[in-house]
Amino acid sequence: MGAGKFPEEISERRWETSSTAEEIITTIGHFKPLRPAPPLHYCPLCRVGFRDPIDLDGHIARSHGNQHVYFRVNRTIVRDFCWLTSNVSDCEIVLLDIPTVQLKIDVNGVATRVTVSRTTSLKKHLTALEPGGTATLTVLDKAFCRTLTISVGAQLTFDSTRFDALLIAFMARGSIQQSIELRRLRQKLTALAANDLEHRYANGMAEYCHAVVLREERSRFSKDRLEEAFELLLPFETQLAREARCALSLVMNCFLGEWPCGLHSSFRLSQYFYCGGRKPRAVRIHHRPVVLLDTLTARFLEAISGFFDRNFDLVFRLVSDAEKSSCILDPNDASKLRLLEARALAETHESKRAAAVYVELTEHPLFAQEAQTFIQSAMTMKRIRQSPR
Ligand SMILES: [Zn+2]
Repeated sequence: MGAGKFPEEISERRWETSSTAEEIITTIGHFKPLRPAPPLHYCPLCRVGFRDPIDLDGHIARSHGNQHVYFRVNRTIVRDFCWLTSNVSDCEIVLLDIPTVQLKIDVNGVATRVTVSRTTSLKKHLTALEPGGTATLTVLDKAFCRTLTISVGAQLTFDSTRFDALLIAFMARGSIQQSIELRRLRQKLTALAANDLEHRYANGMAEYCHAVVLREERSRFSKDRLEEAFELLLPFETQLAREARCALSLVMNCFLGEWPCGLHSSFRLSQYFYCGGRKPRAVRIHHRPVVLLDTLTARFLEAISGFFDRNFDLVFRLVSDAEKSSCILDPNDASKLRLLEARALAETHESKRAAAVYVELTEHPLFAQEAQTFIQSAMTMKRIRQSPR
């Protein structure tokens, strides 16, 4: 799978010209040459990314053990789009704990319907799919609705330079943008797009900007835009798309897998703080993200940087500012903020106050264990101190 021409840039649902990363770096003065992170395999059921497909398999089994359906093409799990250089050697629909699903298979405009009642190879339905052709597989059951498009043959051309120049100029003006400016941006981006691939990139980045502006306006509609932007931008490996996906992972609390952080990405510390993994070697990162950020997300980056610099006064000030300015929009924001506050209090030996903050995380799907362990040890310490000598 992938293209012989640009093997390192393209995987089953990624498209990119090999020179785009360098083009961005040379076009934009303040973009430092960054070593991009290896492409991630994204879970077809949520937005968690993994470097190793085996980890993705494990994640699906652990986190989505209930009813789910997804596709596997040439032994690789794919989400909504799959581009192949040669014919399909295998294509499976994987059913997890589902008795049966109805599937519509459309090959070059000819549709057939099949019912599958277990994980099934669909290869025999795709024999007419040849180079230059496209197949669309749609799960018709409403509860498990998903569509996979498989394209075989030459990749569509994609050059992000024109889009990125426009986007960077727009983003440099900050997140206080009028809806009319957003509309103009979308129109200009759409006018530049020459094919479906470029349309997808243009739409993805426009959705991202719109989502950030809506978050800044404290609109509850921002969530849908965030999700849409994430879906649209998943295949792209441009610097802007990567930064946008890191920002979206932070905003949407995608803490189970990996983010597409390069070695010097300004999101690397946040990824380490919330997702764990290997500690970044360079703790001080001065480069600021180029993508547009809402105020709260920008404060998170600053506060986490302060945390690793042991500048806890800065952390507490930013936490308190975030609370006072009421820019906390949803439980995701609140739990991120609580964890930051609790860890900073623990670091400054304010055990009692840290435990009081950790109490709010004892039900959290990811941080509950840390919270409970801290509270337990704080209680043990208290008992030891209180016990008669
Ligand atoms: Zn998942």
